[in-house]
Amino acid sequence: MADDKKLTTRAADFSAWYNEAVLRAELADYSPVRGCMVIRPNGYGIWERMQRALDDMFKATGHKNAYFPLFIPESFLHKEAQHVEGFAPETAVVTHGGGKKLEEPLIVRPTSETIIYSMFAKWVQSYRDLPLLINQWANVVRWEMRTRLFLRTLEFLWQEGHTAHASHDEAEEETRRMLGVYRDFMEGWMAMPVITGQKTDAEKFAGALRTYACEAMMQDNKALQAGTSHNLGQNFAKAFDLKFQAEHGGQEFAWNTSWGVSTRLVGGLVMTHGDDNGLRVPPLLAPIELVIVPIYKTDDERSRMLEAAERIVQTLTEWERREPGRLRVHLDDRDGIKPGAKYYEWELRGIPLRMELGPRDLEKNQAVLVRRDTREKKPVSLNTIGEDVADLLMRIQEDMLIAARERREQNSVRRPISYDDFRALMDGPGGFVYAGWCGSPECETKVKEDTKATVRVLPDEEFRSAEPPATCLRCGRPAIAEAVWAKAY
Ligand SMILES: [Zn+2]
Repeated sequence: MADDKKLTTRAADFSAWYNEAVLRAELADYSPVRGCMVIRPNGYGIWERMQRALDDMFKATGHKNAYFPLFIPESFLHKEAQHVEGFAPETAVVTHGGGKKLEEPLIVRPTSETIIYSMFAKWVQSYRDLPLLINQWANVVRWEMRTRLFLRTLEFLWQEGHTAHASHDEAEEETRRMLGVYRDFMEGWMAMPVITGQKTDAEKFAGALRTYACEAMMQDNKALQAGTSHNLGQNFAKAFDLKFQAEHGGQEFAWNTSWGVSTRLVGGLVMTHGDDNGLRVPPLLAPIELVIVPIYKTDDERSRMLEAAERIVQTLTEWERREPGRLRVHLDDRDGIKPGAKYYEWELRGIPLRMELGPRDLEKNQAVLVRRDTREKKPVSLNTIGEDVADLLMRIQEDMLIAARERREQNSVRRPISYDDFRALMDGPGGFVYAGWCGSPECETKVKEDTKATVRVLPDEEFRSAEPPATCLRCGRPAIAEAVWAKAY
């Protein structure tokens, strides 16, 4: 059980607040291996719900799951020049197996493009075999120097989609489609608004033609890259001889895409919605949506409250049958723990809705519902409890997205800003700054050196300002695009 010490406030130290919230809500723990984490049941429960929702969305867009090996021959990584340059510094390498030195060292996968496209090359012969749409749920390893629970760990869980297509345009369409799937998931399920757009060459995936990303704003005004989708062009197809017989004859190289999200999303959820009392989990992703806490003093009251609570669980379960999987209810019947301590614990864990049920409520045939997001209390009749609970959960889900979107807009700058003011802003509160970029990597590098801010994305049309900025934030030359500048995780 969680201890009842107060969390460090977000205002005092956001980073300390985050670590404490994750540890005290028992989402994860540090492991004996530096930089690795143990995902505890409370955290894994959220990840499982994320997985389930995403997996359904992948299947609805025509993808199938498969599994590829953890080990990749070292030579594979070297077949695509940019790819090896990007990933070699952070790989873990197996040099010995069964007590013997290996003839060829094995890389523990940091991502699976190489091994997957080497297999695609075997499976694809003709245009009839395309598109090939595969997803893998897996762990990957990247030897990070500075790690944070969920946000950056040596080993993490993710999904990686890998596809092969007959043309550039089909691959581009797929890349954009999956970016859209991610956005729908992040907004619809996580209540986490995102800005989508294209990465600059400096920030794109090692080996990609183009990278698109979903960027969310955390409560410390830093950006979190929450998901990426890459059009890989023919780079990997050429490296792995992934060719097909074209419809009009002749051999052509396939066009690939890859796209991924990881357990980092759990960290994003915490940093988007948490407050000084702990997590706030949106109902759709909460392993428990409603917790019932009976209130009593005497043994007689206890048995009456528990009996009534059981009946409510029964009602909600029957109601659930009309709309399967909708209500995940838990009755906290632990004796010897005061209701206040139970409230504290469930608030820390971010359970979206709490029901308080005491003798006086029961006399009035009601219970009191308390929202985790607003802490608003509302008595409801036991006659309509199923509908009331479901309605409220739906409203919480919607309100959390609205609140997060308002916070992001309040901390976004869309007016022209001088470079000095920009530096002061990044030194202070930070936020998203919509400003022009001349297209030169030198300006990106200089801004990063000066402020630690980077171009998060060149935003998609719907996120662009009505009047596009005319000049580059840093050098004042004509802008080739509007960019979202921010410090990032
Ligand atoms: Zn410039």
